[in-house]
Amino acid sequence: MNWYTEQWSNDCKFSIKYNKVLHSEKSAYQQIDFYQGDEFGTFFTLDGLMMVNEKDEFIYHDMIVHPAFATNPSIKKVLIIGGGDGGTAREVLRYKTVEEVVMVEIDERVFRLCQKYLPITAKGVEEDSRMQLRFEDGLAYVKNAPDESFDLIIVDSTDPISVGEGLFTTAFYQECYRVLNKDGILINQHESPYFAEDASHMRRAHKKIKSIFPIAKVYQYHMPTYPSGHWLFGFASKTYDPIKDIQAEEWEKFGLKTKYYNTDLHVGSFCLPTYVKEELERD
Ligand code: SAM
Repeated sequence: MNWYTEQWSNDCKFSIKYNKVLHSEKSAYQQIDFYQGDEFGTFFTLDGLMMVNEKDEFIYHDMIVHPAFATNPSIKKVLIIGGGDGGTAREVLRYKTVEEVVMVEIDERVFRLCQKYLPITAKGVEEDSRMQLRFEDGLAYVKNAPDESFDLIIVDSTDPISVGEGLFTTAFYQECYRVLNKDGILINQHESPYFAEDASHMRRAHKKIKSIFPIAKVYQYHMPTYPSGHWLFGFASKTYDPIKDIQAEEWEKFGLKTKYYNTDLHVGSFCLPTYVKEELERD
């Protein structure tokens, strides 16, 4: 029997049985492995960490995209940093009102391999005429982007280790603030509150964003294959409060069928457990 095993903390591991390895390579940036199994279908890992699988990807991609659109249904220009599997772009492109999506993924191999092995997320993304795909460092792209040029930035990155590290820095968040227009929203990976190392990443990311954006909130989602299953995104904005300003009726008019997201859950997802609130507020 073959088991993919991931270390979740010093004393805890998570395993998934797989039938075969579909592909393995070391790209210029990271180790990429694709597996096929029965419980989670096809899944891929980067540097030995679960990224996306066929069974629970809808949770992650619903939650990284739809809360921003329900808060500001007029979003037209979107920048995605990372997101090489295509799932975030797929969800953004469902909004016919979106005019332009720039996706900046550092590693072209991730996207090409997902086109081949994970069409559930990557199929159709490149072909959409509103889509501009760029294979370069997101940090450098944002530094050179004009002021107030996007309505929404989604940072769909790997963890703050290796290539993704720069996407968790104050300098990067400052550039995001500059590049967002006055109604702009930033959604980013906030890691997990549960295991100590992830919690420390979460707290540091939140502190940095809070020092730059007037509105900085954190919301949660349940992700079975990420460490502890309890994960967070950050929602930061110059104008919008995601709870007070939710436009549920406007969002319903889009008529999108979603399997995880709904506007009740939107509000509830910003209600955090006490230990998470305390950790976020700690100096
Ligand atoms: N859902 C995933 C997760 O949280 O586990 C993340 C999805 S996506 C595959 C993450 C992508 O971010 C990777 O393909 C990686 O190559 C990309 N990435 C990491 N650092 C980057 C950077 N500095 N600029 C652009 N893309 C980056």
